[in-house]
Order: sequence, then C-alpha cells, then structure tokens
Amino acid sequence: MNIRIEGVTKSYGGQRVLDALSLAVHEGELLTLLGASGSGKTTLLRILAGLERAEAGRVVFGDTVVQDDTAFVSPQRRGLGMVFQSYALWPHLDVAGNLALALREQGMPKPQITERVDEALVTVGLAGMQRRAIHQLSGGQQQRVALARALVARPRVLLCDEPLSNLDAGLREQMRDEIRALQQRLRITTVFVTHDQTEALAMSDRIALLHHGRLVELGAPEQVYAQPSSEYAGRFLGKANVLTGVPEADGRVRVGALALRAATAVTGARAVLMIRPEALLWTDAAGQNTVAADITQLHMLGALREYTVHARELGVALVLLESSDQPVRAGQQRLALPSTALCPLPAETIAGPSA
Ligand code: ADP
Ligand code: MG
Repeated sequence: MNIRIEGVTKSYGGQRVLDALSLAVHEGELLTLLGASGSGKTTLLRILAGLERAEAGRVVFGDTVVQDDTAFVSPQRRGLGMVFQSYALWPHLDVAGNLALALREQGMPKPQITERVDEALVTVGLAGMQRRAIHQLSGGQQQRVALARALVARPRVLLCDEPLSNLDAGLREQMRDEIRALQQRLRITTVFVTHDQTEALAMSDRIALLHHGRLVELGAPEQVYAQPSSEYAGRFLGKANVLTGVPEADGRVRVGALALRAATAVTGARAVLMIRPEALLWTDAAGQNTVAADITQLHMLGALREYTVHARELGVALVLLESSDQPVRAGQQRLALPSTALCPLPAETIAGPSA
C-alpha cells in the first residue's frame, strides 16, 4: 500500500517539530527516515501510526484518508505492524503468547491464531520457538520475536523505529540484512527510522533525510550519496570534502590557485563542490584537476586507510580513503580530483555539522 504525507505539521509547546512536511512512500518500498536526534523522525512515524495527531496536513494510506482536519482512523484500523527500539515484549508470556495477543483481541478463532503464529515464526527464522520464555532468548532472537509480532496480523505497512539500536555491531548488521531480505520477500511497504547513515544506505530503496522537521533530501542511496542536493545532506550521508570557489566564464570553478572542472559546468557568484574521500586518486601526472598534496596524517581503519593531506594550490585539507592493500604513501604526492566525482552543490545550503 502506498502512503501520502501532505503538509504535515506538528508542534510541541510552541516548538515546531514537523514543518509542512510532504512525502510519498511507494507501494512495496523500504523508505528510511534518516536524521539527527530530534529531527522529527519518531514524531512522523507516530503520526503515520495514529499514535499522534498532526495539527495540520493529511495522511493517506492507499485510497483512505487516515488523518486530516476532520478524519482520524485509529491505529488498530490502519493495518500496521510496528517494531520499536525497545522490543516491548511481555515477559510473562511466552513467544507464541506475545504473538497471539493482538490476534486474540481481534477475536480471531484459535486454530487460525495458531496457524498465523507458526507462519510468522517461520518468516523470521524462529520456527519451533513457540513455547520459549522471553528471557531465554538472545537480543537478536527477541528482535526477531518483535518483528514476528509486527507481521503476525499480515499488515499492509510496517513501521520500524530504530529497531536495531540496542543490538551490538555484528548482530545489528545481520538483523539489518535479515529485515531487508524479509521486506523484499514480503514486498511490504516499510517506513524505517534510523539516525545511522550506514544503515540507511545499506537497506533502503529510498532515503528521506529530515533536518529540523523538514525534508532536505530524498532519493535512492546511490544517488543521494553521490549527488546530494545540499552540503548538509552530503556531510550527513558520509565523509565529504567540500570546496568553495568562484565559477569562471568557461564553467570551471576557481578554488585557490586552481580552476577545477566539475561534473557539470558551474555558473553563479559562488560555487560549492563536494568530492567523496574514496574518489580522490593518487597520480603521477600534472594536469587538469590535479594538485600537489602534502600528507599530514595517516589512519589505518582496517579495510581502508585514511589520509589527510594539505592540497597546496587549493589551500585546504582533504581527506582521502583507499583500500589498505595499496602501498602506504608518505610525504609529498600528487592528487587527482576526477571531474566526474566533483559534484556541484547549491551554494545556498543549510549549514551542516562539521563531522
Ligand atoms: P527523533 O526521533 O528524530 O530523534 P523526535 O520526533 O522524537 O525526534 O523529536 C523531535 C522533537 O520533538 C525533539 O525536540 C523532541 O524533544 C520533541 N518532542 C518529541 N515528542 C515530544 C513530546 N511528547 N512532548 C514534547 N516534545 C516532544
Ligand atoms: Mg526517535
């Protein structure tokens, strides 16, 4: 089922948390709401769930207006499954008991409940765990039970709010991949909240980046990573080298003593260019978009090696990432900034974090 969010506004105590936000979620996609803490992700998810009411705007599920000025469909009648950071499982019920609860409340006949519970447990890889007590399960298994519980009523939409935040790193990646595989298998429309850009890039069909309650970026992971539409988005989605300069008559951009050619010709009074650290290349040849670079720092990160260099003609520091199976470099080098990887950003962008 597709979802339309139209001009949704929400304030708490005079503070605007969502600001006339509009966004469409396509049928069967996994859309991630990404943003810093306090950007409004949970508030938006709770409005979709019907746990909060927007003060203005509309939410439409398929053909049904679930909230506007006059209509409000209760959470139980929205056809949703929800997974939260705290699994919110009942400790006094076993696995099957936790899954069956909502179905019993719906008045579903017992044999059908058993069938649905068994099916949901198979779906999340917990077949045969019906009678297990919650405290006998590992963190990952508890997360799977929470996921099974969200799916047991065969919802048309799955809403997840940072469901992986309580898991340690290895398990988090495994569960991330499992949730994504499951979502693709079931083709269930999913809105997934996270503050972790790696998670968002790894599992999403599309990423919606929120900043102070506004949508500041929307697109497929590859696209928003390579060609963000603002400096804020560029920096939020990964490490970024950002250069400011002045466009020249031929479309190149003067940064320090160099005229750089970007992916597209740049015009205007001021230009902002972004290049990802892994796009910078060592080179031996002088030429267009190359610069003398003094290596000032080197960090071994495991699979990758990170260099900080001072780019002489540009007069700035740049960060370069390359595979750590490459030979170590030191001292004076030459760097190429391939024009295809040098992405012009709108000069008027929201000031981003310095990370
Ligand atoms: P996120 O999930 O992106 O971290 P939230 O949607 O939880 O952000 O919160 C957005 C802003 O709204 C924050 O400044 C938060 O303090 C505020 N907020 C959220 N819920 C409430 C509430 N029930 N009462 C008052 N302020 C709230
Ligand atoms: Mg939140």
